Amino acid sequence: MMEQRKGRRLILFPLPLQGHINPMLDLANILHYKGFSITLIHTNFNSPNPSNYPHFTFHSLQDGISATEASTNDVVSLLSLLNIKCAEPFKDCVRSLVSDDVSQEPVSCLISDAIFHFTQAVAESLKLPRIVLRTGGASSFVVFAAFPLLREKGYLPIQETRLEDPVVELPPLKVKDLPVINTLNPDTFHQLVENVVSATKASSGLIWNTFEDLEQSSLASLSQQFSIPMFPIGPFHKHNLAIPSRSSSLLAEDQTSIPWLNTKPPKSVVYVSFGSIAAISEREFLEIAWGLAKSEQPFLWVVRPGLVHGAEWLEPLPSGFLESLSGRGHIVKWAPQQEVLAHEAVGAFWSHNGWNSTLESVCEGVPMICSPCFSDQKVNARFVSQVWKVGLQLESGKLERGEIEKIIRKLMTREKDGDEIRVRVSELQDKADNCLKQGGTSYESLESLVSHIFSLETFNFSHSQESVKTVV
Ligand code: UDP
Repeated sequence: MMEQRKGRRLILFPLPLQGHINPMLDLANILHYKGFSITLIHTNFNSPNPSNYPHFTFHSLQDGISATEASTNDVVSLLSLLNIKCAEPFKDCVRSLVSDDVSQEPVSCLISDAIFHFTQAVAESLKLPRIVLRTGGASSFVVFAAFPLLREKGYLPIQETRLEDPVVELPPLKVKDLPVINTLNPDTFHQLVENVVSATKASSGLIWNTFEDLEQSSLASLSQQFSIPMFPIGPFHKHNLAIPSRSSSLLAEDQTSIPWLNTKPPKSVVYVSFGSIAAISEREFLEIAWGLAKSEQPFLWVVRPGLVHGAEWLEPLPSGFLESLSGRGHIVKWAPQQEVLAHEAVGAFWSHNGWNSTLESVCEGVPMICSPCFSDQKVNARFVSQVWKVGLQLESGKLERGEIEKIIRKLMTREKDGDEIRVRVSELQDKADNCLKQGGTSYESLESLVSHIFSLETFNFSHSQESVKTVV
Protein backbone atom coordinates (compact mmCIF):
# COMPACT_ATOMS: atom_id res chain seq x y z
CA MET A 1 0.00 0.00 0.00
CA MET A 2 1.19 3.48 -0.79
CA GLU A 3 2.40 5.43 2.23
CA GLN A 4 0.68 8.47 3.73
CA ARG A 5 1.00 11.65 1.68
CA LYS A 6 3.59 13.84 3.32
CA GLY A 7 2.37 17.22 2.13
CA ARG A 8 5.82 17.87 0.72
CA ARG A 9 7.00 18.28 -2.84
CA LEU A 10 10.30 17.28 -4.42
CA ILE A 11 11.65 18.82 -7.61
CA LEU A 12 13.50 16.30 -9.78
CA PHE A 13 15.71 17.17 -12.73
CA PRO A 14 16.92 14.28 -14.92
CA LEU A 15 19.71 14.54 -17.47
CA PRO A 16 18.04 14.00 -20.86
CA LEU A 17 19.79 10.75 -21.82
CA GLN A 18 18.15 7.32 -21.67
CA GLY A 19 20.52 5.87 -19.06
CA HIS A 20 19.80 8.85 -16.79
CA ILE A 21 16.07 9.28 -17.42
CA ASN A 22 15.24 5.67 -16.49
CA PRO A 23 16.75 5.72 -12.99
CA MET A 24 15.46 9.26 -12.24
CA LEU A 25 11.91 8.24 -13.13
CA ASP A 26 12.27 5.07 -11.08
CA LEU A 27 13.46 7.20 -8.17
CA ALA A 28 10.50 9.53 -8.68
CA ASN A 29 8.16 6.54 -8.42
CA ILE A 30 9.89 5.32 -5.26
CA LEU A 31 9.67 8.72 -3.56
CA HIS A 32 6.07 9.18 -4.68
CA TYR A 33 5.30 5.82 -3.14
CA LYS A 34 6.94 7.05 0.06
CA GLY A 35 4.40 9.89 0.15
CA PHE A 36 6.12 12.83 -1.58
CA SER A 37 4.58 14.81 -4.41
CA ILE A 38 6.79 14.95 -7.48
CA THR A 39 7.51 17.78 -9.88
CA LEU A 40 9.74 16.86 -12.78
CA ILE A 41 11.59 19.56 -14.67
CA HIS A 42 12.83 18.34 -18.03
CA THR A 43 14.46 19.68 -21.15
CA ASN A 44 12.51 19.93 -24.40
CA PHE A 45 15.04 17.65 -25.92
CA ASN A 46 14.50 13.94 -25.09
CA SER A 47 11.51 14.80 -22.98
CA PRO A 48 9.94 11.91 -21.03
CA ASN A 49 6.32 11.13 -21.86
CA PRO A 50 4.17 12.82 -19.17
CA SER A 51 1.15 10.68 -20.03
CA ASN A 52 2.99 7.66 -18.61
CA TYR A 53 3.18 9.49 -15.26
CA PRO A 54 -0.20 11.06 -14.50
CA HIS A 55 0.76 11.18 -10.79
CA PHE A 56 3.63 13.67 -11.42
CA THR A 57 3.66 17.33 -12.42
CA PHE A 58 5.88 18.17 -15.40
CA HIS A 59 7.60 21.43 -16.33
CA SER A 60 9.35 21.77 -19.64
CA LEU A 61 12.42 24.01 -20.04
CA GLN A 62 13.08 26.00 -23.16
CA ASP A 63 16.61 24.63 -23.29
CA GLY A 64 17.55 26.26 -26.60
CA ILE A 65 19.43 23.13 -27.75
CA SER A 66 19.18 22.82 -31.53
CA ALA A 67 18.52 19.52 -33.30
CA THR A 68 22.12 19.47 -34.59
CA GLU A 69 23.51 20.08 -31.10
CA ALA A 70 21.28 17.35 -29.66
CA SER A 71 22.31 14.77 -32.25
CA THR A 72 26.03 15.36 -31.79
CA ASN A 73 28.25 12.32 -31.50
CA ASP A 74 30.33 14.22 -28.98
CA VAL A 75 28.59 13.54 -25.66
CA VAL A 76 31.03 15.75 -23.77
CA SER A 77 30.14 18.81 -25.86
CA LEU A 78 26.46 18.08 -25.39
CA LEU A 79 26.80 17.74 -21.62
CA SER A 80 28.72 20.99 -21.23
CA LEU A 81 26.25 22.77 -23.50
CA LEU A 82 23.35 21.50 -21.39
CA ASN A 83 25.02 22.85 -18.26
CA ILE A 84 25.29 26.26 -19.89
CA LYS A 85 22.00 26.53 -21.75
CA CYS A 86 19.75 25.16 -19.02
CA ALA A 87 21.07 27.46 -16.28
CA GLU A 88 18.81 30.51 -16.75
CA PRO A 89 15.53 28.77 -17.66
CA PHE A 90 16.07 26.25 -14.85
CA LYS A 91 16.63 28.95 -12.27
CA ASP A 92 13.50 30.82 -13.38
CA CYS A 93 11.47 27.64 -13.27
CA VAL A 94 12.63 26.57 -9.79
CA ARG A 95 12.23 30.10 -8.43
CA SER A 96 8.61 30.21 -9.50
CA LEU A 97 7.93 26.72 -8.13
CA VAL A 98 9.46 27.58 -4.77
CA SER A 99 7.58 30.87 -4.46
CA ASP A 100 4.35 29.05 -5.31
CA ASP A 101 4.78 26.75 -2.38
CA VAL A 102 2.92 29.02 0.02
CA SER A 103 -0.31 28.17 -1.72
CA GLN A 104 0.74 24.63 -2.65
CA GLU A 105 2.89 22.09 -0.82
CA PRO A 106 6.28 23.29 0.38
CA VAL A 107 9.21 22.13 -1.74
CA SER A 108 11.58 20.09 0.47
CA CYS A 109 14.51 19.89 -1.89
CA LEU A 110 15.81 19.57 -5.40
CA ILE A 111 17.07 16.19 -6.61
CA SER A 112 19.26 16.66 -9.65
CA ASP A 113 21.36 14.38 -11.81
CA ALA A 114 25.01 14.71 -10.76
CA ILE A 115 26.02 15.77 -14.26
CA PHE A 116 23.84 18.89 -14.02
CA HIS A 117 26.48 20.46 -11.79
CA PHE A 118 25.23 24.01 -12.39
CA THR A 119 22.16 23.21 -10.27
CA GLN A 120 24.22 23.43 -7.06
CA ALA A 121 24.72 27.18 -7.51
CA VAL A 122 21.06 27.64 -8.43
CA ALA A 123 19.95 25.70 -5.33
CA GLU A 124 22.26 27.76 -3.11
CA SER A 125 21.04 31.03 -4.54
CA LEU A 126 17.42 30.00 -3.87
CA LYS A 127 18.29 28.53 -0.45
CA LEU A 128 16.89 25.20 -1.52
CA PRO A 129 18.77 22.06 -0.42
CA ARG A 130 20.05 19.95 -3.31
CA ILE A 131 20.43 16.18 -3.22
CA VAL A 132 22.32 14.52 -6.04
CA LEU A 133 21.36 11.38 -7.92
CA ARG A 134 24.37 9.68 -9.45
CA THR A 135 22.99 7.25 -12.01
CA GLY A 136 26.31 5.44 -12.52
CA GLY A 137 27.98 3.04 -10.10
CA ALA A 138 29.97 4.01 -7.03
CA SER A 139 33.12 2.22 -8.22
CA SER A 140 33.44 4.35 -11.33
CA PHE A 141 32.74 7.49 -9.30
CA VAL A 142 35.73 6.63 -7.11
CA VAL A 143 37.81 6.83 -10.28
CA PHE A 144 36.26 10.13 -11.41
CA ALA A 145 36.91 11.58 -7.97
CA ALA A 146 40.55 10.48 -8.35
CA PHE A 147 41.10 12.31 -11.65
CA PRO A 148 43.35 14.99 -10.10
CA LEU A 149 45.52 12.26 -8.57
CA LEU A 150 45.54 10.25 -11.81
CA ARG A 151 46.74 13.31 -13.68
CA GLU A 152 49.36 14.11 -11.10
CA LYS A 153 50.71 10.54 -11.27
CA GLY A 154 50.79 10.62 -15.07
CA TYR A 155 48.12 7.96 -15.73
CA LEU A 156 46.02 10.63 -17.45
CA PRO A 157 46.00 11.62 -20.24
CA ILE A 158 46.36 8.00 -21.30
CA GLN A 159 49.50 7.08 -23.18
CA GLU A 160 49.10 4.26 -25.70
CA THR A 161 52.29 2.59 -24.48
CA ARG A 162 50.99 2.27 -20.92
CA LEU A 163 47.58 0.69 -21.55
CA GLU A 164 48.46 -2.57 -19.76
CA ASP A 165 50.06 -0.88 -16.73
CA PRO A 166 48.21 -1.42 -13.46
CA VAL A 167 46.81 1.67 -11.75
CA VAL A 168 48.32 0.73 -8.41
CA GLU A 169 46.18 3.20 -6.48
CA LEU A 170 42.95 1.69 -7.85
CA PRO A 171 43.19 -2.09 -8.13
CA PRO A 172 42.30 -4.06 -10.19
CA LEU A 173 42.16 -1.33 -12.83
CA LYS A 174 44.70 -1.00 -15.60
CA VAL A 175 45.35 2.22 -17.50
CA LYS A 176 43.12 0.95 -20.34
CA ASP A 177 40.18 0.75 -17.90
CA LEU A 178 40.25 4.44 -16.95
CA PRO A 179 36.92 6.12 -17.74
CA VAL A 180 37.93 8.35 -20.62
CA ILE A 181 35.86 9.31 -23.61
CA ASN A 182 36.63 10.18 -27.22
CA THR A 183 36.03 13.88 -27.59
CA LEU A 184 37.29 16.83 -29.54
CA ASN A 185 37.71 18.61 -26.19
CA PRO A 186 39.55 16.46 -23.63
CA ASP A 187 40.04 19.51 -21.40
CA THR A 188 36.29 20.09 -21.37
CA PHE A 189 35.82 16.49 -20.24
CA HIS A 190 38.26 16.89 -17.34
CA GLN A 191 36.60 20.15 -16.35
CA LEU A 192 33.18 18.52 -16.49
CA VAL A 193 34.31 15.67 -14.23
CA GLU A 194 35.85 18.13 -11.80
CA ASN A 195 32.69 20.26 -11.72
CA VAL A 196 30.48 17.24 -11.19
CA VAL A 197 32.62 15.98 -8.31
CA SER A 198 32.89 19.35 -6.56
CA ALA A 199 29.19 20.21 -6.97
CA THR A 200 28.39 16.78 -5.54
CA LYS A 201 30.65 17.38 -2.55
CA ALA A 202 28.83 20.66 -1.92
CA SER A 203 25.38 19.04 -2.03
CA SER A 204 23.19 17.89 0.86
CA GLY A 205 23.36 14.18 0.04
CA LEU A 206 24.02 11.60 -2.63
CA ILE A 207 21.63 8.90 -3.84
CA TRP A 208 23.02 5.77 -5.54
CA ASN A 209 21.35 3.22 -7.74
CA THR A 210 23.45 0.46 -6.23
CA PHE A 211 23.48 -1.69 -3.10
CA GLU A 212 25.95 -2.24 -0.28
CA ASP A 213 26.71 -5.87 -1.04
CA LEU A 214 27.71 -4.98 -4.59
CA GLU A 215 29.89 -1.91 -4.01
CA GLN A 216 30.66 -1.84 -0.31
CA SER A 217 34.30 -0.83 -0.51
CA SER A 218 33.73 1.85 -3.15
CA LEU A 219 30.88 3.32 -1.12
CA ALA A 220 33.06 3.26 2.00
CA SER A 221 35.88 5.01 0.18
CA LEU A 222 33.51 7.72 -1.10
CA SER A 223 32.01 8.20 2.36
CA GLN A 224 35.50 8.96 3.61
CA GLN A 225 36.18 11.50 0.91
CA PHE A 226 32.76 13.19 0.81
CA SER A 227 31.36 14.65 4.00
CA ILE A 228 27.75 14.28 2.88
CA PRO A 229 25.32 11.46 3.64
CA MET A 230 25.07 8.70 1.04
CA PHE A 231 22.01 6.65 0.25
CA PRO A 232 22.61 3.45 -1.72
CA ILE A 233 18.97 2.49 -2.27
CA GLY A 234 19.22 0.45 -5.49
CA PRO A 235 18.39 -1.45 -7.52
CA PHE A 236 15.68 1.17 -8.15
CA HIS A 237 13.75 -0.83 -10.72
CA LYS A 238 13.26 -3.76 -8.37
CA HIS A 239 11.52 -1.85 -5.57
CA ASN A 240 8.09 -3.29 -5.02
CA LEU A 241 5.84 -0.27 -5.38
CA ALA A 242 2.56 -2.08 -5.88
CA ILE A 243 1.95 -0.08 -9.06
CA PRO A 244 3.03 -1.33 -12.47
CA SER A 245 5.83 0.95 -13.60
CA ARG A 246 5.60 2.32 -17.13
CA SER A 247 8.47 2.34 -19.54
CA SER A 248 10.52 5.51 -19.84
CA SER A 249 12.03 4.44 -23.18
CA LEU A 250 12.60 7.25 -25.66
CA LEU A 251 12.46 4.74 -28.53
CA ALA A 252 9.53 2.39 -29.17
CA GLU A 253 10.14 -1.05 -27.65
CA ASP A 254 9.96 -3.85 -30.18
CA GLN A 255 6.99 -6.09 -29.39
CA THR A 256 8.31 -9.19 -31.18
CA SER A 257 11.21 -9.78 -28.76
CA ILE A 258 9.30 -11.63 -26.03
CA PRO A 259 7.23 -13.86 -28.38
CA TRP A 260 10.50 -14.75 -30.15
CA LEU A 261 12.19 -15.60 -26.82
CA ASN A 262 9.17 -17.77 -25.94
CA THR A 263 10.19 -20.12 -28.75
CA LYS A 264 13.71 -20.71 -27.38
CA PRO A 265 14.96 -23.22 -24.77
CA PRO A 266 15.84 -22.00 -21.25
CA LYS A 267 19.13 -20.12 -20.91
CA SER A 268 20.02 -20.59 -24.57
CA VAL A 269 19.84 -17.03 -25.94
CA VAL A 270 22.61 -14.41 -26.03
CA TYR A 271 21.01 -10.99 -25.67
CA VAL A 272 23.20 -8.31 -27.29
CA SER A 273 22.83 -4.57 -26.70
CA PHE A 274 25.21 -1.66 -26.45
CA GLY A 275 22.73 0.79 -24.94
CA SER A 276 21.49 4.15 -26.16
CA ILE A 277 24.67 6.06 -27.09
CA ALA A 278 27.61 3.81 -27.97
CA ALA A 279 28.44 3.49 -31.66
CA ILE A 280 30.62 0.98 -33.52
CA SER A 281 32.33 0.84 -36.88
CA GLU A 282 31.00 -1.15 -39.81
CA ARG A 283 33.92 -3.56 -39.44
CA GLU A 284 33.06 -4.21 -35.77
CA PHE A 285 29.39 -4.63 -36.69
CA LEU A 286 30.22 -7.34 -39.22
CA GLU A 287 32.59 -9.13 -36.84
CA ILE A 288 29.81 -9.20 -34.24
CA ALA A 289 27.32 -10.52 -36.80
CA TRP A 290 29.66 -13.33 -37.93
CA GLY A 291 30.78 -14.12 -34.40
CA LEU A 292 27.14 -14.54 -33.33
CA ALA A 293 26.41 -16.66 -36.39
CA LYS A 294 29.43 -18.90 -35.80
CA SER A 295 28.67 -19.37 -32.09
CA GLU A 296 25.57 -21.36 -33.10
CA GLN A 297 23.69 -20.01 -30.09
CA PRO A 298 20.36 -18.21 -30.61
CA PHE A 299 20.72 -14.44 -30.26
CA LEU A 300 18.51 -11.39 -29.80
CA TRP A 301 20.43 -8.36 -31.00
CA VAL A 302 19.50 -4.72 -30.49
CA VAL A 303 20.78 -2.72 -33.45
CA ARG A 304 19.68 0.80 -32.63
CA PRO A 305 19.46 3.08 -35.67
CA GLY A 306 22.72 5.03 -35.35
CA LEU A 307 24.64 2.16 -33.71
CA VAL A 308 26.78 1.65 -36.81
CA HIS A 309 28.75 4.70 -37.96
CA GLY A 310 27.67 5.74 -41.42
CA ALA A 311 24.74 3.30 -41.69
CA GLU A 312 21.02 3.86 -41.28
CA TRP A 313 20.37 0.42 -39.86
CA LEU A 314 21.20 -3.06 -41.19
CA GLU A 315 22.49 -2.22 -44.70
CA PRO A 316 26.06 -3.40 -44.00
CA LEU A 317 24.81 -6.97 -43.33
CA PRO A 318 25.31 -9.33 -46.28
CA SER A 319 21.96 -10.06 -47.89
CA GLY A 320 20.36 -13.24 -46.64
CA PHE A 321 22.39 -13.17 -43.42
CA LEU A 322 19.48 -13.61 -41.02
CA GLU A 323 17.63 -16.00 -43.31
CA SER A 324 20.68 -18.28 -43.40
CA LEU A 325 20.41 -18.70 -39.62
CA SER A 326 17.03 -20.48 -39.78
CA GLY A 327 15.37 -18.44 -37.03
CA ARG A 328 18.37 -18.56 -34.69
CA GLY A 329 18.89 -14.79 -34.80
CA HIS A 330 16.47 -11.93 -34.19
CA ILE A 331 17.43 -8.27 -34.67
CA VAL A 332 15.36 -5.40 -33.24
CA LYS A 333 15.81 -1.62 -33.00
CA TRP A 334 15.06 -1.35 -29.28
CA ALA A 335 14.03 -4.06 -26.82
CA PRO A 336 12.04 -4.08 -23.58
CA GLN A 337 15.38 -4.84 -21.92
CA GLN A 338 14.30 -5.52 -18.35
CA GLU A 339 11.67 -7.98 -19.55
CA VAL A 340 14.17 -9.59 -21.90
CA LEU A 341 16.74 -10.08 -19.15
CA ALA A 342 14.08 -11.57 -16.88
CA HIS A 343 13.05 -14.07 -19.57
CA GLU A 344 14.05 -17.65 -18.84
CA ALA A 345 15.36 -18.17 -22.39
CA VAL A 346 18.14 -15.62 -21.88
CA GLY A 347 21.46 -17.19 -20.88
CA ALA A 348 23.91 -14.30 -21.33
CA PHE A 349 24.00 -10.56 -21.93
CA TRP A 350 26.65 -9.21 -24.26
CA SER A 351 26.74 -5.64 -23.03
CA HIS A 352 28.60 -2.35 -23.28
CA ASN A 353 28.27 -2.25 -19.48
CA GLY A 354 26.41 0.98 -19.07
CA TRP A 355 25.57 1.02 -15.36
CA ASN A 356 21.84 0.39 -15.83
CA SER A 357 22.46 -2.58 -18.09
CA THR A 358 25.06 -3.98 -15.71
CA LEU A 359 22.75 -3.69 -12.71
CA GLU A 360 19.73 -5.03 -14.62
CA SER A 361 21.76 -8.08 -15.64
CA VAL A 362 22.93 -8.73 -12.08
CA CYS A 363 19.35 -8.40 -10.81
CA GLU A 364 18.16 -11.12 -13.17
CA GLY A 365 21.16 -13.36 -12.54
CA VAL A 366 22.33 -13.14 -16.17
CA PRO A 367 26.08 -13.56 -16.78
CA MET A 368 27.73 -10.99 -19.04
CA ILE A 369 30.12 -10.66 -21.92
CA CYS A 370 31.67 -7.22 -21.51
CA SER A 371 32.51 -4.88 -24.40
CA PRO A 372 32.83 -1.45 -22.82
CA CYS A 373 33.01 1.50 -25.21
CA PHE A 374 33.77 4.60 -23.16
CA SER A 375 33.72 6.38 -19.81
CA ASP A 376 32.40 4.51 -16.74
CA GLN A 377 31.56 1.45 -18.89
CA LYS A 378 35.24 0.51 -18.77
CA VAL A 379 35.32 0.48 -14.98
CA ASN A 380 31.99 -1.36 -14.75
CA ALA A 381 33.25 -4.04 -17.15
CA ARG A 382 36.42 -4.62 -15.14
CA PHE A 383 34.38 -4.98 -11.96
CA VAL A 384 32.05 -7.45 -13.69
CA SER A 385 34.90 -9.60 -14.97
CA GLN A 386 37.48 -9.29 -12.18
CA VAL A 387 35.83 -8.18 -8.94
CA TRP A 388 32.37 -9.75 -8.97
CA LYS A 389 33.50 -12.34 -11.53
CA VAL A 390 30.07 -12.56 -13.13
CA GLY A 391 31.18 -12.17 -16.73
CA LEU A 392 33.99 -12.41 -19.25
CA GLN A 393 35.56 -9.39 -20.88
CA LEU A 394 36.19 -9.28 -24.59
CA GLU A 395 39.32 -7.13 -24.61
CA SER A 396 39.03 -4.23 -27.03
CA GLY A 397 41.54 -5.65 -29.51
CA LYS A 398 39.53 -8.87 -29.73
CA LEU A 399 36.36 -7.77 -31.43
CA GLU A 400 36.94 -10.39 -34.06
CA ARG A 401 34.59 -13.20 -35.16
CA GLY A 402 36.77 -16.13 -33.95
CA GLU A 403 37.30 -14.55 -30.51
CA ILE A 404 33.62 -13.72 -30.23
CA GLU A 405 32.63 -17.28 -31.06
CA LYS A 406 35.12 -18.56 -28.46
CA ILE A 407 33.95 -16.29 -25.64
CA ILE A 408 30.26 -17.06 -26.28
CA ARG A 409 30.95 -20.79 -26.18
CA LYS A 410 33.05 -20.44 -23.03
CA LEU A 411 30.22 -18.67 -21.23
CA MET A 412 27.22 -20.56 -22.61
CA THR A 413 28.37 -24.14 -22.65
CA ARG A 414 28.75 -26.23 -19.51
CA GLU A 415 32.42 -25.48 -19.16
CA LYS A 416 33.90 -24.83 -15.73
CA ASP A 417 34.31 -21.07 -16.27
CA GLY A 418 30.71 -20.61 -17.35
CA ASP A 419 29.36 -22.70 -14.48
CA GLU A 420 31.29 -20.78 -11.84
CA ILE A 421 30.14 -17.48 -13.29
CA ARG A 422 26.51 -18.63 -13.26
CA VAL A 423 26.74 -19.62 -9.60
CA ARG A 424 28.26 -16.26 -8.62
CA VAL A 425 25.75 -14.17 -10.55
CA SER A 426 22.84 -16.00 -9.01
CA GLU A 427 24.33 -15.35 -5.55
CA LEU A 428 24.53 -11.64 -6.41
CA GLN A 429 20.96 -11.76 -7.68
CA ASP A 430 19.86 -13.08 -4.26
CA LYS A 431 21.73 -10.26 -2.57
CA ALA A 432 20.02 -7.73 -4.83
CA ASP A 433 16.64 -9.20 -3.85
CA ASN A 434 17.44 -9.27 -0.16
CA CYS A 435 18.69 -5.71 0.18
CA LEU A 436 15.23 -4.43 -0.72
CA LYS A 437 13.41 -6.46 1.90
CA GLN A 438 12.57 -4.98 5.29
CA GLY A 439 15.83 -4.81 7.27
CA GLY A 440 17.90 -5.00 4.05
CA THR A 441 20.52 -2.32 3.42
CA SER A 442 18.73 -0.50 0.58
CA TYR A 443 15.38 -0.69 2.37
CA GLU A 444 16.92 0.92 5.46
CA SER A 445 18.84 3.45 3.43
CA LEU A 446 15.60 4.57 1.78
CA GLU A 447 14.07 5.08 5.23
CA SER A 448 17.09 7.24 6.15
CA LEU A 449 16.74 9.21 2.93
CA VAL A 450 13.12 10.05 3.75
CA SER A 451 14.11 11.23 7.26
CA HIS A 452 17.04 13.14 5.80
CA ILE A 453 14.76 15.01 3.40
CA PHE A 454 12.61 16.05 6.36
CA SER A 455 15.65 17.07 8.39
CA LEU A 456 16.75 19.43 5.59
CA GLU A 457 13.66 21.50 6.22
CA THR A 458 14.76 22.53 9.67
CA PHE A 459 17.24 24.94 8.18
CA ASN A 460 15.32 25.52 5.02
CA PHE A 461 11.85 26.54 6.01
CA SER A 462 10.12 28.57 8.60
CA HIS A 463 7.03 26.50 7.80
CA SER A 464 5.77 24.79 10.89
CA GLN A 465 5.12 21.09 10.32
CA GLU A 466 1.80 20.89 8.59
CA SER A 467 -0.48 18.09 9.55
CA VAL A 468 0.30 15.04 7.47
CA LYS A 469 -2.34 14.50 4.87
CA THR A 470 -3.74 11.05 4.44
CA VAL A 471 -4.15 9.28 1.13
CA VAL A 472 -7.74 9.17 0.02
N1 UDP B 1 17.46 -0.27 -22.89
C1 UDP B 1 16.24 -0.70 -23.35
N2 UDP B 1 16.19 -1.32 -24.55
C2 UDP B 1 17.28 -1.57 -25.31
C3 UDP B 1 18.54 -1.12 -24.82
C4 UDP B 1 18.59 -0.49 -23.61
O1 UDP B 1 15.21 -0.51 -22.68
O2 UDP B 1 17.13 -2.13 -26.39
C5 UDP B 1 17.51 0.41 -21.58
C6 UDP B 1 18.23 -0.43 -20.55
O3 UDP B 1 17.30 -1.29 -19.92
C7 UDP B 1 18.84 0.61 -19.64
C8 UDP B 1 19.04 1.82 -20.54
O4 UDP B 1 18.26 1.60 -21.70
O5 UDP B 1 17.94 0.93 -18.59
C9 UDP B 1 20.48 1.99 -20.97
O6 UDP B 1 21.23 2.47 -19.92
P1 UDP B 1 22.74 2.06 -19.70
O7 UDP B 1 23.21 2.77 -18.48
O8 UDP B 1 22.87 0.59 -19.68
O9 UDP B 1 23.50 2.53 -21.00
P2 UDP B 1 23.55 3.92 -21.83
O10 UDP B 1 22.43 3.87 -22.79
O11 UDP B 1 23.43 5.05 -20.85
O12 UDP B 1 24.89 3.85 -22.50
